[in-house]
Amino acid sequence: MTTEPGFRQSVDLMFNRAVVLMDLPPGLEEKIRVCNSTYVVRFGVRLRGGIQTFTGYRSVHSEHMEPVKGGIRYAANVHQDEVEALAALMTFKCALVEAPFGGSKGGLRIDPRQYEDHELEQITRRFAYELIKRDLIHPSQNVPAPDMGTGEREMALMADQYARMNTTDINARACVTGKPPHAGGIQGRVEATGRGVQYALREFFRHPEDVAQAGLEGKLDGKRIIVQGLGNVGYHAALFLSTEDGAKITHVIERDGALHNPAGLDIALVHDWIASHGGVRDCPHGTYIKEGLRVLEEECDILIPAAVEGVINMHNAHAIKAPLIIEAANGPITAGADEVLRQKGTVIIPDLYANAGGVTVSYFEWVKNLSHIRFGRMQRRQEEARHELIVNELERLSRDTGTGWTLSPHFKERYLRGAGELELVRSGLDDTMRVAYQAMREVWYSRNDVTDLRTAGFLVSIGRVASSYKAKGL
Ligand code: NAD
Repeated sequence: MTTEPGFRQSVDLMFNRAVVLMDLPPGLEEKIRVCNSTYVVRFGVRLRGGIQTFTGYRSVHSEHMEPVKGGIRYAANVHQDEVEALAALMTFKCALVEAPFGGSKGGLRIDPRQYEDHELEQITRRFAYELIKRDLIHPSQNVPAPDMGTGEREMALMADQYARMNTTDINARACVTGKPPHAGGIQGRVEATGRGVQYALREFFRHPEDVAQAGLEGKLDGKRIIVQGLGNVGYHAALFLSTEDGAKITHVIERDGALHNPAGLDIALVHDWIASHGGVRDCPHGTYIKEGLRVLEEECDILIPAAVEGVINMHNAHAIKAPLIIEAANGPITAGADEVLRQKGTVIIPDLYANAGGVTVSYFEWVKNLSHIRFGRMQRRQEEARHELIVNELERLSRDTGTGWTLSPHFKERYLRGAGELELVRSGLDDTMRVAYQAMREVWYSRNDVTDLRTAGFLVSIGRVASSYKAKGL
């Protein structure tokens, strides 16, 4: 392969590499690969004394399960191919983590940083209106979520727009996920994708053979990590890995350069700096490096691209030194680079698994909205009461038998606390990430013709999508 494939071609090539190893009925492979539909809308909004025209997309890749699910991205250069590639990844991601959705994705050509909040509200409501009237936002048909350039605010606006246009729909709030908790969201959604990256790495490091395949050893503690993109996903992943697992974030790469500290950057401080200064230049918490992209090639144990697609490509793949890459972003490694890296023995934890924490918790949010009750509301106090019974009984036995045993206050406090929504969400996410990794891993180890986790992940996902189509008689 000599020329660099585009994002959608890359996804297709990776899909093809897996599908040739399968025995699907004739034609089913093509049906699963193609994007079912893409709606392109151009709409005008009256802004700053004139009318500005915006272009938006909503692609539906696969409807083998409905609703279809996938984020909406706001970016100046978003285009149809990119949205279709992202929609395809959503299909395989949902299948891999057993979220009962087809794949979809949306995009709006806009640089959100160029607009005031009230202007973004107008634009978002208008875009949502265009999608809602075609059922491209709908609790049982198509459920968006945040992606690059969007967050809780945009999701709350879209949900509100849907409710205004569907005043009697009791499930209106389930039309979009990633809403703030006070507008029907769920605890732990904002951090979910980064948290999922952390859980994925924890699961990887539970398997010494897998760690050895990357030429590494031991646990996450002390591992040197480079993170590209300190946005929603990159920030949470970096924060949790450094504050909870003892990893050192030696480099953070942003749009305007990179920051370096061999002892580990204080991620919360760097994040605050970026929020108030718009970039990492002049940040006092590390050494500034102007050539950010070159930092991808620095020595480290783990590389976490968490910004945009295509950053590891045929130009720099040979120079990447990281033995382990976890794709927190969608499509950060092109198909060509993937081949180069695989030949070098780099272990890649692929996007369709690595960043599935977001859609997993979105699934929990959707279920919460449809069931109209917060997770844990019925069980929490009952669970606490049962634990208290045991603690009281143990303390009575200790007293009556004169053993003098006591439960440590820390144990008691933790044991007596029933699980609230956040604990349940984290537990569900952790379970999902572990089970999905094990499914990929089983294929990786059990088949001689599968040498990487990405192909293994695609095999698991395509197999599940194929079963779903077969069950429909296709
Ligand atoms: P975001 O907009 O919150 O953050 C992106 C960050 O990357 C920003 O800090 C931005 O400044 C930085 N960035 C952009 N271009 C860059 C470049 N060329 N070099 C260095 N830094 C750059 O976006 P996000 O929601 O964190 O999404 C990041 C990636 O993760 C995307 O690929 C997205 O599709 C994927 N993803 C996001 C979610 C989610 O829940 N938000 C879920 C799954 C996958």
